[in-house]
Amino acid sequence: KKIYYYRVNLRKCFYATDHQKFYGEVALITGGTRGIGFELAKKFATGGANCIVVGKNSERVNVAVLNLMKLEREKKNNADNNKKGEIGHDHDNRHIGIVCDLSSGIEIEKAAKAFKHFGRVDYLINAAGISHDSLLIQVKDSEIDEIISTNLVGAILVSRNVAKIMLRQNKGCIINISSVIGLYGNSGQSIYSASKAGIIGFSKSLAKELARKNIRVNVIAPGYIDTEMTSGLPSKTKDEILSKTLLNRIGDVKDVAHAAMYLATANFVTGQTLIVDGGLSIS
Ligand code: NDP
Repeated sequence: KKIYYYRVNLRKCFYATDHQKFYGEVALITGGTRGIGFELAKKFATGGANCIVVGKNSERVNVAVLNLMKLEREKKNNADNNKKGEIGHDHDNRHIGIVCDLSSGIEIEKAAKAFKHFGRVDYLINAAGISHDSLLIQVKDSEIDEIISTNLVGAILVSRNVAKIMLRQNKGCIINISSVIGLYGNSGQSIYSASKAGIIGFSKSLAKELARKNIRVNVIAPGYIDTEMTSGLPSKTKDEILSKTLLNRIGDVKDVAHAAMYLATANFVTGQTLIVDGGLSIS
């Protein structure tokens, strides 16, 4: 029995590299169907975590969960081929999807029951977000409402539900996706900017509330990242952003995911905003 015990743990240590660092943990990712959120879900899933993917569109939620499972199977096959077996996961039940319109408080309260599906949540990533670009004098009431309720109120309500789970665990990590626009503003994006600035203030206060229970809260403020959200920007605007980006390239979802992986494991960091913009905001 003793020999077996050591064998298991040696295997765990040996393979506790990237593909085991979240073994036995649960990550809930809003906006996890595509773009930045899906890249983050992939990172957590390949790190061994069970993922809860939250999105608005049911088909995209299903596809995202299926893709995470596919990734899992491919990883398992590669591991088997390399004789690097894993420590036994039930690959078909590792990830779940929740369809929820985060602009609706009622839908979030209904979805909150499913947040407890795995009995715990170790990481919450609030990545769901929308943007409508328009000058303040032209912006419609419905647009103001949709942006603030999805980007800010949605993240607050999800955090409130998940914080209750994390408080019981005495452990947790919340990463909220803001934007450099929330820090520095941008003409035509005043409402989006307000929602993203709100996320930063909210996160700092929450970090103060939850720190004594070993729950960290941090923010990532990305610059321009190549996703569906930015695909519709005019090429002139893209060129302007590129010319101001010190690292002379457009950001990739992987750039944000790397920063998130740092914050997920940086156990002495809380209440901080990490700018991931290739130097755009200091140029
Ligand atoms: P995408 O447009 O690619 O993806 C948006 C995600 O949010 C999707 O998963 C979508 O789900 C989800 N979502 C949108 N509205 C709702 C809603 N009402 N309820 C539930 N889910 C919703 O965006 P990005 O990946 O580019 O952006 C991710 C986050 O990063 C956002 O908060 C954004 O503001 C922020 N950000 C992005 C930057 C960029 O340059 N791309 C720069 C700075 C910040 P579904 O697929 O189901 O619709």
